[in-house]
Amino acid sequence: MADGTRIDSVKTTCPYCGVGCGVVVERLSGERQVNIRGDLDHPANFGRLCSKGLALGETTSIKERLLYPEIRGERTDWKTATDLVADKFSNIIAEHGPDAVAFYVSGQLLTEDYYVANKFIKGYIGSANIDTNSRLCMASSVAGHKRAFGADTVPGTYEDLELADLVILTGSNFAWCHPVLYQRLLAAKEKRPSLKIVVIDPRRTATVDFADLHLPLCPGGDVPLFLGLLNALKKARLCADEYVENYTKGVGEALANAADFDLARVSDMTGLDPALIQQFFTMFIETEKTLTVYSQGVNQANDGTDRVNAIVNCHLYTARIGRPGMGPFSITGQPNAMGGREVGGLANQLASHMDLHNRDHRDLVQRFWRSPKIADKPGLKAVDLFDAIHEGKVKAVWIMATNPVVSMPNADFVREALAKCELTVVSEVVGTSDTAQCADVLLPSSAWGEKQGMVTNSERRMSRQRGFMAPPGEARDDWRQICDVAQKMGFADAFAFENASEVFQEFAALCGYENNGSRDLDLSGLSDIDEKSYEEFAPLQWPVSHDDVVSKGDGKGAENKQDHRFFADGNFYTDDKRAFFAPVAASSSSLEQPGTPPTSNYPFVLNTGRIRDQWHTMTRTGLAPRLSQHIAEPFVEVCPKDANRLGLKEASLAKVVSPNGEMFARVVITDRQQEGSLFAPMHWTSRYAKKGRVGAVTRAAPDPISGQPALKSSPAAIEPFDAAWYGFAVIGDEAGFDLECLSAIDYWAGARFACADQDDDKGALHRDDGAGVRLELAHSDYNIVNQLTDEFVTAAETHWEGPIETARFVDDGRGLSSYAIFSDDKLVCLLFIARESVSAARTWACEQIGRSFNGSERAQLLAGRPGGATPDRGAIICSCMNVGLNEIKASIAKGCDSVQAISDATKAGSNCGSCRSDIARLLKERVDA
Ligand code: SF4
Repeated sequence: MADGTRIDSVKTTCPYCGVGCGVVVERLSGERQVNIRGDLDHPANFGRLCSKGLALGETTSIKERLLYPEIRGERTDWKTATDLVADKFSNIIAEHGPDAVAFYVSGQLLTEDYYVANKFIKGYIGSANIDTNSRLCMASSVAGHKRAFGADTVPGTYEDLELADLVILTGSNFAWCHPVLYQRLLAAKEKRPSLKIVVIDPRRTATVDFADLHLPLCPGGDVPLFLGLLNALKKARLCADEYVENYTKGVGEALANAADFDLARVSDMTGLDPALIQQFFTMFIETEKTLTVYSQGVNQANDGTDRVNAIVNCHLYTARIGRPGMGPFSITGQPNAMGGREVGGLANQLASHMDLHNRDHRDLVQRFWRSPKIADKPGLKAVDLFDAIHEGKVKAVWIMATNPVVSMPNADFVREALAKCELTVVSEVVGTSDTAQCADVLLPSSAWGEKQGMVTNSERRMSRQRGFMAPPGEARDDWRQICDVAQKMGFADAFAFENASEVFQEFAALCGYENNGSRDLDLSGLSDIDEKSYEEFAPLQWPVSHDDVVSKGDGKGAENKQDHRFFADGNFYTDDKRAFFAPVAASSSSLEQPGTPPTSNYPFVLNTGRIRDQWHTMTRTGLAPRLSQHIAEPFVEVCPKDANRLGLKEASLAKVVSPNGEMFARVVITDRQQEGSLFAPMHWTSRYAKKGRVGAVTRAAPDPISGQPALKSSPAAIEPFDAAWYGFAVIGDEAGFDLECLSAIDYWAGARFACADQDDDKGALHRDDGAGVRLELAHSDYNIVNQLTDEFVTAAETHWEGPIETARFVDDGRGLSSYAIFSDDKLVCLLFIARESVSAARTWACEQIGRSFNGSERAQLLAGRPGGATPDRGAIICSCMNVGLNEIKASIAKGCDSVQAISDATKAGSNCGSCRSDIARLLKERVDA
């Protein structure tokens, strides 16, 4: 069979964001080769995928994979590694008690992994010291739900986006962070233009580009805005009297807290024009079918739980909850953040949405597990956990599927804590993560595409992730790793699972155990799911009660189950079944109070977040060349006024500093950013940039109720980086990451690019994997440049056969030196050094690798300027169709006056649609100019 021949197809789920899109993987002959497309039948995406999902096929190689267990950097076998972990955990527990050990896990884990980890530590070790990176993502939503509803229940469904007449997106860059849901929303609006979209965000993000109204409130203005809305709803006599009377409690105090929030006060505390606020209030008042979608901008705050409840209160007051097109809607960041919540992945939860503080729940879970003990108090939440490790109170930690040395706030402190810890165990897919570098014991885990399990998306829909490739080397499933250690610690029977379906069956049975409708998470209909049904499981929204699947008696089982909304008729999960209006008040201690700079030394509020084409710490998306085309290095956004005042030039480098640490980033000057605020992406790691980790700068400042860190509001300062020279290099091989001189250079950032096979008449450059590396460089001392160029030549001689030839060009006037290295007459490396930021066309430069050049062409190449035959397409905007900024601008100049017209002309935005908001912005900028 020829390589690339289709073998079969497998339905699975995307491993990135909380939308939980269904994916069809076509397996091809050839080593780990697949094609990816959206699953038309999956109710989350109906066939759509965003740029990240579509690039999944570029992440299935074994590049950067951890293949074997290691103990302190030396390869070992599983028996030795798990013996060591089991012995060390047992000894520490015997000497210091169960709270001296901990797990730090992840919303990337599958439900089965998560369930086994929780069962092990809470029921057998007897500690609740297990927390998850979901603490950084949606813990405030969990706390807000529990406070209002008595359970962590998301009331609505994705369909509500299409049924609503007003969709409010608050603290959510929906266009970039949940692109497929954003596409669903835009499609609904296109069909029904009366559907209005309001965006509440300090930044004018890509999501704003199709909005009817943008409220650019100041950081921290969320609670005052929603208190003002509650007050306005009262004045408009919009109280759903019967609902509030029969199904809720606490409305009086909530209204009293909101009573002072008239337009003037809300304006004062949010920095918003009163007319804009009134417009928003009127839209809410006049539109019954209102959906409020919120995400990390709400959750990641030191008043995050109050922000959630301030939103929920407005929906309870108007009974706009649990009915089609209405409700508060928390959208999670990770693929299985919801699954983690279901199995009790947070340190203050018990499995199956039960509570650690509830004696009956503890008793129920212990009886079900028949466990020797059960944790009887909450464990340490993420920030406290790493503090306790640093202090030596927690002496062993097992980290699974997450990279806290990058993602936690105060990340250098986290690295220090792990270095001090007696035993740091890291279960990882890649060996190159920052956290893997800190491990005493490194355990290779199976990755997406290699394991079986369940995930739950933001609308409570469970879907299967299915393996379609064998794990490479000795990689193992995370749940199995835990079972191996648990068995060695004396708990053989309780952890004797043979496969993932047995784990899920036990979890489903626990959800149904003595439930009888008393808990929202009822999976009693799946309690006896067998291996075949598990394998064939079609996406299904919980609850799935016994009645749901057997009452029709038609043999279809769970297929009969209809989608479900909660709370239209009350039936909350508090003791008295009533929802609680949390008495939210506007905090006066919040860092983000309007008009109050954090401190004189750190006068900016640093906001962090995602970009369109990268995921978390880039361990997977960093492998896909096309995903680095949109944005290839860490950046910091600053508004023109601040930039001017501080002498920051566009495309120069800046140092962002806080009391915790520093990062370097490329300056982007934009009026999408407010004065006094900065924005930097969360993705860059030590693997892809020198000092690009924003986590080194951010503060923890957790919300006192949820424990979620305030990752969107750290005090910071910014200053220009005084570089003696800047560089840009393109290397037609991954060896670019291994250049020794990089460790001595103040700043570098690397990204993969695809080396296209050259099939023109100048011949082809044969490559095995097709990836090269592009590097941005800067340093404070010119003397290192000679070492740098020498290394480039040496690297070329090492990695390519054939005669090596170097062409050089020096332009003293422009302060530019350029080097082009050819192997066998084909370009393999390009290097530009300049006193100012290098102006060479990046995309064009990458596209020259593998080409041959005659004399005049070589001169043009060394000048970094595209010639007429090979125009510069500019930074890639549409990564699916590979369409650049300059191509889109050219189509606008030729008269294309709509996103669709540009798409028709260039094909940009014609596939996944993730870039359509970027195109809309370019169009608008052109119109405004
Ligand atoms: Fe994956 Fe994109 Fe769907 Fe999120 S929106 S699940 S990243 S394809």
